[in-house]
Amino acid sequence: MADLHDNYLDWLRDAHAMEEQAETMLKGMAKRLEHYPALEARIKQHIDETLEQQRLVESVIKRYDSSSSTFKDLAGKVGAMTQAMGGMFASDEVVKGGIAGYTFENFEIASYTALIGAAQAVGDLEGQRIFEQILAQEKAMASWLLEHLPEITQQFLMRSKAPHTEAKR
Ligand code: MG
Ligand code: FE
Repeated sequence: MADLHDNYLDWLRDAHAMEEQAETMLKGMAKRLEHYPALEARIKQHIDETLEQQRLVESVIKRYDSSSSTFKDLAGKVGAMTQAMGGMFASDEVVKGGIAGYTFENFEIASYTALIGAAQAVGDLEGQRIFEQILAQEKAMASWLLEHLPEITQQFLMRSKAPHTEAKR
């Protein structure tokens, strides 16, 4: 039977890989956006939060990982690259990106909610506190995207019908 801590450490590594993937996706989107300054600013804020989340998750991993062994980061980065490429050439990439971003934030929300349960089960109070802090940032980002998606979509449609105006990003 697997040790409680083996599962916990495995999920911590998954969370770290997820944050590497988040960084790649968010940076890809921020770099391409030109005509949606509010979205770009919110994404940039979340890039900063994501980098801090990576550091925080890493700090928990270090307390449980005696081997200081490999992260799953490489696989995560490749996965994120593929996803970012998916919407990149779409004529409505800002809308597709907003939807994909919202989906990803909810994946993070579910992951940290599970991780909080795991932290409680192993008695890692510091980890629990960290994941609750991160969870609040993921929820705020998901809420922002959901709230602004109609407006972003309407801006896209307005720009699409205007002559000599780029709409997609
Ligand atoms: Mg995150
Ligand atoms: Fe996030």
